[in-house]
Amino acid sequence: MVQTEKLYEGKAKILYSTADPQILLTVYKDDATAFNAQKKGQIKGKGEINCTIAAALFQFLEKAGIPTHYIDCPQKNQMRVKAVTIIPLEVVVRNIAAGSLCRQTGLPEGQILPKPLVEYYLKDDALGDPLLTRDRLLLLNLASPEQLATIEEITLKINQQLQEFFKLCQITLVDFKLEFGFDSQQQILLADEISPDTCRLWDSTETDPQARVMDKDRFRKDLGQVESAYQTVQQRVLAAISNLSTINSD
Ligand code: UDP
Repeated sequence: MVQTEKLYEGKAKILYSTADPQILLTVYKDDATAFNAQKKGQIKGKGEINCTIAAALFQFLEKAGIPTHYIDCPQKNQMRVKAVTIIPLEVVVRNIAAGSLCRQTGLPEGQILPKPLVEYYLKDDALGDPLLTRDRLLLLNLASPEQLATIEEITLKINQQLQEFFKLCQITLVDFKLEFGFDSQQQILLADEISPDTCRLWDSTETDPQARVMDKDRFRKDLGQVESAYQTVQQRVLAAISNLSTINSD
């Protein structure tokens, strides 16, 4: 794969241009950060694992009719993606109370929400990714009301699909973060990644509140066994994809 110019280095990925201006190359790193990069470390093998999981989930979602930026993976930690203009929004979906929702509202961790909660945060590290109201989002011209309606509709569809998928993996999808971008035709595509770095995933075969954690909270909270948790998510995701393709080809 010919990497040309390094366009951007983020906390978990590096973005390169390619010979084709419509295609970018994303290289997933082992670097891990938390609390707005105040905590830094490495999770061995994370680059390959997250890229593999994200690729599997993007392909699964494409089959369910959700347009994504995914093209293919030339190597285990590399993903070719369609070039998009990223909307500077972190779209968070919550099915169960955890993390900042508990800290900011007092809801107990683990409380099942009556319906999925969709939240918008401004993607701006300098401002600490603040929670936005709908009116603030529109005030900042981050999306038009119609585009926002499309984003919410796609987001809820993704949540439904991923909840069902992770059930097959004996994993509870607690919450997750999505990013979207506009392609050259102004179509909204799911972009960035979906991985244990960007989701809260609880092992549904475990009841212990620490033992069940299979995502970046193991790193954030120093729970140990971070690598093995990520590996288990990868194994279960790939097994579920393989079962689904066997069922579909029968
Ligand atoms: N999340 C993310 N990137 C961010 C912020 C949040 O991927 O910059 C994910 C996080 O992993 C979790 C969900 O979004 O799955 C909700 O995160 P929350 O607002 O609870 O923040 P936290 O408790 O992680 O500070």
